[in-house]
Amino acid sequence: MNECCFECNKKLEGDEIAIYRRLVNRGATKYLCIDCLSKHFRCTRTLILERIEHFKEIGCTLFCK
Ligand SMILES: [Zn+2]
Repeated sequence: MNECCFECNKKLEGDEIAIYRRLVNRGATKYLCIDCLSKHFRCTRTLILERIEHFKEIGCTLFCK
């Protein structure tokens, strides 16, 4: 995985790409990091991390274990 956040240019983790796809656009080809995504949704970074854990728990196929 060699993607960067299109807002701040930070190198992205697989989870950041997966949560962006899950919450914003399943077919996305550019992504936001967790910090920029939380700004986008005007929520906290913690909330995004909780969502990631939640989707992993329910076995969402966008997330690799
Ligand atoms: Zn960013």
